[in-house]
Amino acid sequence: MNTFQDLGLNEDLLRAITDLGFEKPSEVQDKAIPILLESETDLVALAQTGTGKTAAFGFPMLHKIDVNSRTTQGLILSPTRELCLQITNEMKLYGKYCKGLNVVAVYGGSSITDQARDIKKGAQIIVATPGRMKDMINRRLVDISKIEYAVLDEADEMLNMGFKEDITDILSFTPKEKNTWLFSATMPREVAAIAKNFMRSPQEITVGNKNESTSQVSHEYYLVNSRDRYDALKRLADANPDIFSVVFCRTKNDTQKVAERLIEDGYSAGALHGDLSQNQRDLVMKSFRNNQIQMLVATDVAARGIDVDDITHVINYQLPDEIETYTHRSGRTGRAGKTGVSMVIVSKSEVRKIKSIERIINKAFEKKDIPNGMAICEVQLMSLANKIHHTEVNHEIDKYLTSINELFEDTSKDELIKKFFSVEFSRFFNYYQKSKNLNVSEGDVRDRDSGRDGGRDFGGSADSTRYFINVGSKDGFDWMQLKDFLKEVLELGRDDVFKVEVKDSFSFFNTENELKDKILAFFTDYKHNGRFVNVEVSENRGGGGRRNDRRGGGRSSGGGERRGGGERRSSSRSDSGSRGDRRSGSGGDFKSNGSSPNRSARRSGGDTKTSDSGASRPRRSRR
Ligand code: ADP
Ligand code: MG
Repeated sequence: MNTFQDLGLNEDLLRAITDLGFEKPSEVQDKAIPILLESETDLVALAQTGTGKTAAFGFPMLHKIDVNSRTTQGLILSPTRELCLQITNEMKLYGKYCKGLNVVAVYGGSSITDQARDIKKGAQIIVATPGRMKDMINRRLVDISKIEYAVLDEADEMLNMGFKEDITDILSFTPKEKNTWLFSATMPREVAAIAKNFMRSPQEITVGNKNESTSQVSHEYYLVNSRDRYDALKRLADANPDIFSVVFCRTKNDTQKVAERLIEDGYSAGALHGDLSQNQRDLVMKSFRNNQIQMLVATDVAARGIDVDDITHVINYQLPDEIETYTHRSGRTGRAGKTGVSMVIVSKSEVRKIKSIERIINKAFEKKDIPNGMAICEVQLMSLANKIHHTEVNHEIDKYLTSINELFEDTSKDELIKKFFSVEFSRFFNYYQKSKNLNVSEGDVRDRDSGRDGGRDFGGSADSTRYFINVGSKDGFDWMQLKDFLKEVLELGRDDVFKVEVKDSFSFFNTENELKDKILAFFTDYKHNGRFVNVEVSENRGGGGRRNDRRGGGRSSGGGERRGGGERRSSSRSDSGSRGDRRSGSGGDFKSNGSSPNRSARRSGGDTKTSDSGASRPRRSRR
């Protein structure tokens, strides 16, 4: 492997590299830098997160631009504000000895006129999010007609986030003869299309296997009932007292709820999602970086910019809709040469997704059990013992020693230790002593689609909900088409709808309980071919074909239909609220179900810190 000197970078950059403490190039740097320095070429580079892609395009760009000119020569597009700022920072660090260099970040949520002013001063390099860049171009606040190098960083993610059109528009304002360098962790079809349509015979480099996830990360899954998801999360946290983690949820709503509930239960947690103001997001990220937050609960989009090197665990509270996203999630840990664990809490109806993910990451998952209560108590106790063992004595205590000694005059060392540890141990013990086993055995998992041709076990189960929908084969649906239709209009993942059974004028299907609210809410005023589509929770938990009498003849026709549909809809909503599923579904999932060890600690431990997102739990702070 080369050294940075061997790669041909100039003195200014080599000095910065020494300052940064980078000893040798990473693989992607080793492969990309010589190509980009030696030739004027387009490039597609595939490498996982944390492999040093920023420097792989950053150094060559800095090497090649003319810092004596004030013309904008380099444009770097990246998906999020956080990443944009991070890249800008890195570029400034890399170019700290390049005299006259001006790198400007362009992103939403901050004054566009200030950004325009910075650019006017002569920015050789602009790092931008596509949305704001497009804005700037439309308002003629920026001139990118002389760009020589365009970088599409995290291209897969930018396309995931719907920036395709913006990127296309932006590139149309750049000269044809520029070089485009595309960096991506994965190579889905959309990225390949961009490479094909916007790049000229790009050289291609791949680091590791395509789509293979970081080797430093081990992957584990935990099979539980949907309704136990939150309790499982808490146990995983309690079983890892020094956890420093990102917890991924599927929706902003779940993200907020899980974070709130963790905070309420005394964990140092915070939420990161798109509904928060920029200011709130910055605060949460700051607390996380400072290790004041141990569990950062985040959506995929919001977490995209997280560049924190020592994350110990990634927890998939729910699996992502697109399983490819899993690679991005797990790449948050195991960075910078450290090891990490990516945990998936999975319910029965999703467990088959694990197999698909294994194929993508080219690594096997280990199925593990959620630790039982006593195991957690033991871990906590030993963790405390170790901490005490390594604690430096604070001699401020000396002056109180006489009175403390008096108090314990008749207590033996053994007794004292027991008492001392009981303070901490008891709260975990009291919480966990009657705790149940949360694990579901794999044998319980039935093949969900096996019964699609009718008849067999089509009911809702503990963690899935069965629905009635008033369209059927008369409306041109077969089971596959109906599944596709539902996935499309509801923007669901590929395995989210199952046990689809199509009858003449109506059908049934299942989803996870968690999707129930979303589905019922969506079909309150949805029309298909001019007709209201009505979805209700099916009371038919048993066999395939029977349906509830109340639904009568499926669909009516003419003017009365609309009102009829409306009545059914509203009644179905109150129905579903009052029966069944009390403990599951996204609503029930978050209702309080008893205290937690951390919470009671706050009460009894005398630590009165309020549990806002920044505060650490008593005795729980990481460092
Ligand atoms: P990626 O964009 O591939 O996710 P980054 O460019 O953000 O990765 O780099 C990840 C981390 O590795 C950063 O903290 C960066 O400073 C560090 N890094 C990059 N290159 C090297 C190197 N050659 N030696 C040591 N650390 C490096
Ligand atoms: Mg990057």
